[in-house]
Amino acid sequence: MNRVYNFSAGPSMLPLPVLEKAAAEMVSYGDSGMSVMEMSHRSADYEPIIFGAEKLLRQLMNVPENYKILFLQGGASTQFAAVPLNLIGRTGKADYIVSGQFSGKAFKEAQKYGDVVEVATSKADNFTYVPHVDKSAFRSDASYVHICYNNTIYGTKFDYIPDTGDIPLVADMSSCILSEPVDVSKFGVIYAGAQKNMAPAGLTVVIVREDLLGGALPITPAMLDWKIAADNDSMYNTPPCYTIYMAKLVYEYLLSIGGLEAMKKLNEEKAALLYDYLDSQDYYIAPVKPECRSMMNVTFVTGNADLDKKFAAEAAAAGLKNLKGHRSVGGMRASIYNAMPKEGVVKLISFMKDFAKNNSK
Ligand SMILES: *Cc1c(COP(=O)(O)O)cnc(C)c1O
Repeated sequence: MNRVYNFSAGPSMLPLPVLEKAAAEMVSYGDSGMSVMEMSHRSADYEPIIFGAEKLLRQLMNVPENYKILFLQGGASTQFAAVPLNLIGRTGKADYIVSGQFSGKAFKEAQKYGDVVEVATSKADNFTYVPHVDKSAFRSDASYVHICYNNTIYGTKFDYIPDTGDIPLVADMSSCILSEPVDVSKFGVIYAGAQKNMAPAGLTVVIVREDLLGGALPITPAMLDWKIAADNDSMYNTPPCYTIYMAKLVYEYLLSIGGLEAMKKLNEEKAALLYDYLDSQDYYIAPVKPECRSMMNVTFVTGNADLDKKFAAEAAAAGLKNLKGHRSVGGMRASIYNAMPKEGVVKLISFMKDFAKNNSK
């Protein structure tokens, strides 16, 4: 078996022990005599998987009792509609901070459902930082404020949690969930597609404060109504059973290595290696403002599109895959999620040094 270092922004690497456990249990789970893929979601074998996953995630993220955890489908992008459908009914208004492409899409989608405004954006500077806003930026009668906590495409992350006062704060954490501890109580809703840091694609996790349930707009499809999902333990219809099982294995793995504090330490080490190297030389340029640098997605360019292309191709040939930046920004992006081992980052830096030596600008 020859595994590569996969720097993909998502779907992305999963911890090897998780893949191995899943492989060992693939054909027959426990003494059920069947694969998890073949199980009824209402069976005695499956129930401990979904309820166990919920319990483990609550433990890992220290989710308070007055929050529901929902296991849904449709990706984070479906939540771009579900968020306003569930929350905007109170006042008909919502405020968005647009710090990248995904928050832009979320903003655009929400505009279909009410009076939705962009209160701040870093678009004019190519999203190289996250706007700093204080409480006065928000409309006091906004039903909620929406942010994207880690901007996957640009490699930026909120270096603060906006103070929204009594207005519920909603955060898309698709590309940073489980990378470090977060104070869940500071948010009304946290949502994340699983395929960056949690599981294979097909699962979306929503963590929602209970008092925010039950106010969905009447037009809300049943499948997007969080209250219906909560009342049915995420089994209003067939949930993404196998992906939830994979998420449970990832949660168990993270707890086994010391939980999110330990994960944060390792992620900080990996990111520091790469950023320290970037800061120590002038061949590669890291466009993001240092205080907004993402620990998960590290972007850099050579300043020459042909060299960028050559870099990604030669890196791939050397077993460092998917380093090409997002099509909308170019350059390179190294996504170093939880499952990327430190050796992967060390190898990448060594490749970067050699490439710079061999390709003068
Ligand atoms: C990947 C990503 C999305 C889109 O997720 P889907 O599950 O593909 O809909 C949205 N927001 C962020 C921050 C992402 O990283």
